[in-house]
Amino acid sequence: MDKRKMLIIGAGLSAYQLAKYSYDAFDVTIVTKGSASQCNSMRAQGGIAAAIHSNDHPDLHLNDTLKAGSYYNDVNQVNTLVKGAKDIMDTLVLEGFQFDKNSSGALSSGFEGAHQKKRIFRAGGDQTGKYLIEFYQSLIEDHISLIENHLAVDLIAKNGEVKGVITIDQYDQYHVFNADVVILATGGYGGIYDRHSNDETTTGDGISLAYRAGAEVLDLEFVQFHPTLFKGKNRYHLISEAVRGEGACLIDERGTKILAEHPMKDLAPRDIVSQEITSVLEKGSQVYLDITKIPNFKERFPSIYESLIQEGYSIHKPVSVEPGAHFSMGGVRVDENGMTSIKDLYAVGEVSAHRLHGANRLASNSLLETLVFPKRLALYLDNVIRLKKDSVAAPLSDRKKISDYPSLGCIKEKNRLILGVLRNQTSLLNYKQWLDQYELDNLVNLSARNVSRKQIEKEHILIVSHLVLNHCIRRKESLGAHVINKYQDRSQNLKGVLSC
Ligand SMILES: Cc1cc2nc3c(=O)[nH]c(=O)nc-3n(C[C@H](O)[C@H](O)[C@H](O)COP(=O)(O)OP(=O)(O)OC[C@H]3O[C@@H](n4cnc5c(N)ncnc54)[C@H](O)[C@@H]3O)c2cc1C
Repeated sequence: MDKRKMLIIGAGLSAYQLAKYSYDAFDVTIVTKGSASQCNSMRAQGGIAAAIHSNDHPDLHLNDTLKAGSYYNDVNQVNTLVKGAKDIMDTLVLEGFQFDKNSSGALSSGFEGAHQKKRIFRAGGDQTGKYLIEFYQSLIEDHISLIENHLAVDLIAKNGEVKGVITIDQYDQYHVFNADVVILATGGYGGIYDRHSNDETTTGDGISLAYRAGAEVLDLEFVQFHPTLFKGKNRYHLISEAVRGEGACLIDERGTKILAEHPMKDLAPRDIVSQEITSVLEKGSQVYLDITKIPNFKERFPSIYESLIQEGYSIHKPVSVEPGAHFSMGGVRVDENGMTSIKDLYAVGEVSAHRLHGANRLASNSLLETLVFPKRLALYLDNVIRLKKDSVAAPLSDRKKISDYPSLGCIKEKNRLILGVLRNQTSLLNYKQWLDQYELDNLVNLSARNVSRKQIEKEHILIVSHLVLNHCIRRKESLGAHVINKYQDRSQNLKGVLSC
């Protein structure tokens, strides 16, 4: 009997976990925009959160998650996450994944911002994501097809259900993939900003694909900004909070500690630190992270050390840092199983929005999300997906020329300045007025194109930027990771439900 076809868009940890639990029942193909190593999962430094020690409990993990998320979370989803951690950790250990261990051979765990217990598990020091990706690649490579350099352009939808995906390769050739079920695993939208910690391929494309096919998107105004990124030659790099946990502090140009007044000093929550740094930068001063007093920096933070040295920095001098987009709480709206509002279209990982993280993510919960929810989805899909009899071809249509739209540099800069940590109602409305002249709504109704990959990439970014802007305008409160000038009093939060 023919196997059912599962097509996963994106090759991060959530895609791999879903593939691992699906390849027995489905013929699994993963298409990904860049190379197999290009994803945010690969970059995860901090670790994976799991309340598995005897002095810890999933309920404590739940409380920390809700508090970080400004209680905007879906409690049922958080429960699934925190209770699912034990099974995930046990399975990883059983299958031979090498977590870091302490001197007595037990799994070692650490603290991270806003966790009240030591429950962050790491691998290779600050290389947990890389180790996990390589581990999963070795588990699934013989069982699935992984197609690199294929950017998903459009979903193929007919009679209200998704039937496949159109992609474009690096030579501007279009391809059609028919499938019985399509899963978006395209990660977040940090890449729509010009300062971010993400892989350059994560520009919210899954949101653009889903929205154009008529799916609901949710909470796009909630973006987490990481306070300490440093500028490299071609990209920004992240210096994990763990470095401040070991004694690094933030100073201005005169050497004054900028968080001296905060009760938690340099370990204040991520959003507070980002807001503080942004205020100092807006006054025209630089902000530095003083890492000079951390003993054994190289051994404790091998990959951060490596990037600093490669980019020409010294660990004996303070490093100039700026906040940048880091994690996307919003995305394509899904139910508790990962189902979107369109038949046979699902979403997992950072592209999915199910209020798990509320208005702000608790550190190290997202790797856990990429392992708990896709496993659950795999079991669900095995029961609900049926073989489709018909296959569909992709229509082509003519498009405006790329020069008709603003440049990506301009859009990404505006996103940083206007859709960043500190927002201003007037600037949001002015940005909308400016963007409206490009009639981006026209892009939404188009199916496959006869244009270049470069233009498709740009259109995804324009559509997502437009959606994020609209959600920012509709959010009449400061909640989670951002502050809006007009609504600075967080006690007045409305906690309304916005979606479109
Ligand atoms: C620097 C950094 C450090 C982090 N540290 C931690 C941590 O310590 N702990 C933690 O829990 N979380 C951490 N996170 C967050 C976490 O890594 C991510 O949330 C998580 O890995 C996302 O996994 P994913 O599978 O959803 O997406 P990703 O791993 O981002 O994968 C998305 C994939 O989709 C592909 N794609 C995108 N668009 C298209 C398209 N149009 N067509 C085809 N393919 C496409 C991308 O190329 C990529 O392969 C960190 C994130 C960053 C950026």
